[in-house]
Order: sequence, then structure tokens, then C-alpha cells
Amino acid sequence: MDIRTLAVHAGTIQDETAGAVTNPIFLSTTFERSPEGQIRPKGFVYTRDTNPNRQALEKVIAAMEGGGEALAFSSGMAAVLTVFQTVLKPGDHVLISDDCYHGVVHLLTERYPQWQVSFSSADMTNINSLRNALRPETKLIMVETPSNPQLKITDLAAVAALAKERGITTACDNTWATPLITRPMDFGIDIVIHSTTKYFGGHSDVLGGAVVVRKENPILPELRDFQNVGGAVPSPFDCWLLTRSIATMPLRVMQQSTSAAIIAQALVGHKKIEKVFYPGLTDHINHEVAARQMKNSFGAMLSVLLHGGQKEALAFASRLKIFRHATSLGGVESLIEHRLTAEGNHPKSPDNLMRVSIGIEHPDDLLKDLLQALA
Ligand SMILES: *Cc1c(COP(=O)(O)O)cnc(C)c1O
Repeated sequence: MDIRTLAVHAGTIQDETAGAVTNPIFLSTTFERSPEGQIRPKGFVYTRDTNPNRQALEKVIAAMEGGGEALAFSSGMAAVLTVFQTVLKPGDHVLISDDCYHGVVHLLTERYPQWQVSFSSADMTNINSLRNALRPETKLIMVETPSNPQLKITDLAAVAALAKERGITTACDNTWATPLITRPMDFGIDIVIHSTTKYFGGHSDVLGGAVVVRKENPILPELRDFQNVGGAVPSPFDCWLLTRSIATMPLRVMQQSTSAAIIAQALVGHKKIEKVFYPGLTDHINHEVAARQMKNSFGAMLSVLLHGGQKEALAFASRLKIFRHATSLGGVESLIEHRLTAEGNHPKSPDNLMRVSIGIEHPDDLLKDLLQALA
């Protein structure tokens, strides 16, 4: 079935009590055993292990990623942490992309040295620089494509092939592309990670994360165990909200991406703008890989460099009337953010970079707003 059909139906709970068409919410933390003390056939015991709403959410996320098994977490960072805890042991090295989500850099810089896990970064859009950065103790390559905030596109098939040769596990943070545009496991990536806070949730009102692997991936049982005993699990209500939002996710992401392409193109060459980063633009450094790897569209995120440095960049944001100046992305409302400020202790963005998340408003209104703020 098409992803739009799966998005509506793959997370449905068959409600035997009332025949409800939409999913009931099972707030119960615990589930009654049979008279013999056995777990009932549905397998529910305690909500930290699993819960009908979490199971429904995991089913629909796995279906969207093209099969396998999904594990839901209370945030994207909890998903990343669980992958690291499962894959990495003392003495191991993890390679991340040089344009990686700042929270991951923070985790590896501040929290992991005490576990003797080291990391380094590489420009993963260049397979030679990736190859040169590998060490004998590299256990995990973590890719992010499109990257944050420069929208670099990594060739997932090339990374997966190199990693397989060396027996290294690969993970891809697919938050920005979403499975509507890229399904990393189709390119040979072992582990898919999401911050479901973004496009899956889509309304900036629920935090969540997910990890997806093929059923035959030998790390699945250990991931499940960490999910349960680590305890960074989403509440039944958060699972329900996410499952509800996923039904409209294909429509939202497609509209948002269409609008982003229109807006990115319209901003190119504007006299106040030094550069537009959008993988759909033919002059984007990785446009060729993007055109090959990204289906349907090039996503709904873009970044711009403004002439005049940080002062001009912030002044531009303050003149916007529809765009809200806030962090995060993927919601129905358009957001703009001065990325350097958000990066805190691990700054990497130029001071004149503004990151833009395109929402579902009419693209004409969004463009008009951007142009009046640039004028
Ligand atoms: C937001 C984000 C995260 C972190 O997710 P949270 O849900 O905020 O914990 C990780 N990776 C990417 C690419 C993100 O955009």
C-alpha cells in the first residue's frame, strides 16, 4: 500500500468495547493477568514495557519506514541515547557528520568521555573524507541527511556499502527528510532515528523519538530491552497524539516541501541574501545526490545567509509577521531561527545564517512576508 494509506490505517487499534473508529487511549499503567497468573494473549503487562497506544504508534512508524520494527521514545534525544547505549562499548569510536544536530555533539562531548567512547566528525558528503576518518575502533557511523542547518545531502548507499565492508553499524537521523522523501533502510542503513517531535507530530505540541530497524537486525532485542529498562518512553497520550498526527503527515510534508521549493527558488539572487541552502536548487553542492536519493521532493527546510551579519539576520526575523522566531521545525506553522544562538556551547553555524521551517500556510503569503521583511 502507498504510504498515504499506511499513514491513516497502520496505527489503528481494533476497539472491541465500542467499535470506535478512532483509537481509544489506554492510560492504564498496568494490565490484569489471567486467573492462572499468566500474561494475557495480547501481551500487555506494564506500560513501560509496552502499551496499546505505543504499540499502535510503533506499527505505523515502522510501516512508513518500509517495514521492520519501530521503538518509540519520549524524545528524539532519548532515541539517539538508546542507540548509542546499545551499539557502543568502552573503547569504541563513533563517527558523526560535521553538520550534525547539536544535541548529539553535546552528548558525545560532555557525557560520553566518562564511558571511554570517543567520537570525531567528517564531511560525509565526501566518501573519501569519510573513509579517511574511520579508525580501527569505529563501531558506528551516524549520518544526518539533509544535515542541520546547511542541508548537506549524504549518499546513503555509498556510506552503507563502505560500512558493510568494515563491519561498522550505520545509523541515519531521518528527521528532516522523513520517510516520505527518504527511507534509509532501502539504501542499506542499519538503524533509522527520528525526532518525532518534528514532522511526525507536525503541530509543535508533542515531544517524541523513534528508532526503526529491520526485524532480523541482531541488535533489536537489546534495543527493546534498553527502551524498557532505560524508561525514556512516551506516555499513552503522547503516543495517541502522534498516531493521530501521522494520518495527515504525508499531506503536510508534501505541501510543506512544495512551498519550500517555491520559496527557496524565489529567494535566490535577492540583493539582501548572500546564499540559499536548499537541496532542490540546481546549484546546491549535493544536488545530484539529492535528485537521486530524495523521492517526491527536497523537503521543507531551508537556510539563508543574509548580507550584513548577525545584526541584519536578527532584524530580518523581527520584521516577519507570519513566521515565528523559535527553534524546532516540521510544524504546521512556519518558523525561523538564528541557528548560532541556538547552538549554545557547540556553535558551528555562520552568524548570518537563519534556518527556516516552512509550514502549511499558503506559499504566496509566506513569500510576501519574507519579501516585506527583506525590503
Ligand atoms: C530535533 C532534532 C533532534 C532531537 O529531537 P528531540 O525530540 O528534540 O529530542 C535530533 N535530530 C534532529 C535532526 C532534530 O531536528
